[in-house]
Amino acid sequence: MSFSFEVKSAIPKAHGRSGVITTPHGEIKTPAFIPVGTKATVKAALPDSIDDLGAQAVLANAYHLYLQPGPETLDAAGGLGKFMNWGKPTFTDSGGFQVMSLGVGFKKVIDMNGDSLNSDDLIAEKRERLAHVDDDGVTFKSHLDGSMHRFSPEVSMQVQHQIGADIIFAFDELTTLHNTRKYQEESLERTRLWAIRCLDEHKRLAESRSHRPYQALFGVLQGAQYEDLRRKAAKDLGYMESSGISFDGFGIGGALDKSKLGTIVGWAVEELPVNKPRHLLGIGEPADLFAGVENGADTFDCVAPTREARTSAVYCPTGRFNVSGSSYRKDFSPIDSECTCYTCKNYTRAYLNHLFRAKEILGPTLATIHNVHFIVNLVERMRLAIEAGDFFEFKQEFLGRYKNSN
Ligand SMILES: [Zn+2]
Repeated sequence: MSFSFEVKSAIPKAHGRSGVITTPHGEIKTPAFIPVGTKATVKAALPDSIDDLGAQAVLANAYHLYLQPGPETLDAAGGLGKFMNWGKPTFTDSGGFQVMSLGVGFKKVIDMNGDSLNSDDLIAEKRERLAHVDDDGVTFKSHLDGSMHRFSPEVSMQVQHQIGADIIFAFDELTTLHNTRKYQEESLERTRLWAIRCLDEHKRLAESRSHRPYQALFGVLQGAQYEDLRRKAAKDLGYMESSGISFDGFGIGGALDKSKLGTIVGWAVEELPVNKPRHLLGIGEPADLFAGVENGADTFDCVAPTREARTSAVYCPTGRFNVSGSSYRKDFSPIDSECTCYTCKNYTRAYLNHLFRAKEILGPTLATIHNVHFIVNLVERMRLAIEAGDFFEFKQEFLGRYKNSN
């Protein structure tokens, strides 16, 4: 086995800490932002560029890779990292989120507070069109060709073993803030039972595929906005053992009221073992990253930096702006004069403005390099601030300048 986590230093009077995750493909110094490469590519960017800008790992998606090209292809290629020419650590999420969310048209966790949905019935009714959850698993329709598929905890483990990432996640049920309390309780129990099945299948697969590098399995904590459910999930999965193994780390997922993000992470963290890493799923905006780090999350992933980049929205220390706007046509300064990324060292806002207006492919590429660097570097600076003992000063200084554009 070559997976471990070591806590290095802590934020005084908070749950946050710095540390090092060790995987068969190298170390991840935490806290760290993990760029998303959904289909085994960080969209629009070369792996070398993602490596050069300081990313320590990438996270791909089991649902998308299962549908296309199929996990057998990744297995035959020698695993995700080899397939995509990425030598550093890799993650895959379980596919649970996409199986359920793509079916009802949800884009991301925090969007799940739309006014159109307000009861389990409505959600169930909508869900029937593409995804149906039962106690054994989820039946869903491919968003690519409409074909029917079924994911269970066992299938998710098999798919993620074939994909071969260093860190994989247990299969969980996604709920929304609109589900009733009763449904949240039932769902949490289903996710708990699925977690046991994931441990059992993971153990079986690890033994039968011992020629492959060790894969760490993270349990996923749900519980929506309820303190007792969040704490219960953390206690249940935090100390769960089955087939003689326990989870190597934890993902904090599901529906989150963003204004309570730090509090919710704190509830889970207080119940979890200190010596295992915690990944906050789908979170990547600066203020949320500060809240997550302060409250004890170690790693993060989010499509926002790459997705925003492709629409010409770029980050700078005062907030996010749209570089295709007419005021940047003759602005020959870099996107961010403080930034050390390849894009900011070599290109101007005027050039990016031109590329986006002319619909040139290089526009999204250069904006992606900058945005991913900005967020990776922000979390790296949080890590250095924790180790220097001035996390709160850094937080105040950064957020004092940064205007949230949400
Ligand atoms: Zn830059």
